[in-house]
Amino acid sequence: MMKCPDCGGRLEVLRACRKVAMKCRKCGREYRIHEVADQLDAETEEILGRWTAIIYD
Ligand SMILES: [Zn+2]
Repeated sequence: MMKCPDCGGRLEVLRACRKVAMKCRKCGREYRIHEVADQLDAETEEILGRWTAIIYD
């Protein structure tokens, strides 16, 4: 799983409009994909791969 760089909580994929971000369940902080791209795991990549209209900004 992906961890929040701040608190170590679990990061979940957050989909808003046509953008996708990661949100921490513990502290609520949101991250852009590129901010946590270095720890992108297979599970998350699969979720992201389902969305063809994702904008990586
Ligand atoms: Zn956190």
